[in-house]
Amino acid sequence: MRATDRTTKRAESTKAPLGAAPKPSASRRKHDVFSAQKRSEIMKQVRSTGNKTTELKMIEEFKKRGIKGWRRNSKLIGHPDFVFPKLRVAVFVDGCFWHGHDCRNTKPKDHQEYWRAKIARNQARDKASTERLQRLGYVVIRIWECDFKKANADKLGAKLQPLFDVVERLKRG
Ligand SMILES: [Zn+2]
Repeated sequence: MRATDRTTKRAESTKAPLGAAPKPSASRRKHDVFSAQKRSEIMKQVRSTGNKTTELKMIEEFKKRGIKGWRRNSKLIGHPDFVFPKLRVAVFVDGCFWHGHDCRNTKPKDHQEYWRAKIARNQARDKASTERLQRLGYVVIRIWECDFKKANADKLGAKLQPLFDVVERLKRG
């Protein structure tokens, strides 16, 4: 699917809360810009493009490469999406929107102030949990939702390389 197709589709399906042009007064508005219902609609929409599907793609990727031994629902710092306890590797699969990736289709033009604050908090939390896990001796891998696009296959492979290295090292003993 081309990016342009996707943009169009999303704009239609969400009645364009993400793609709409900024209103001059938007920057002065506060957090009550959305009704509760509207907000939950938007959040549902955004969430549906992340989490579940990307996690399934991650599992596919592990299987394809013969990687085993991950745990889900980890209670480890930052709640990594996948933890390999024996290998001491933690893998996060981050939704581009919520975690503030600087890529296409993740920059809401409307209500920027609201989203920016929320996303900035997530980013700060991500950074802190990465650092804390690293101090505990974990190899931390953070994958973006968009890394699963075909065009980013090399990037995804490169990011997962540290995991492959640990697996190889273990095999050699
Ligand atoms: Zn992205």
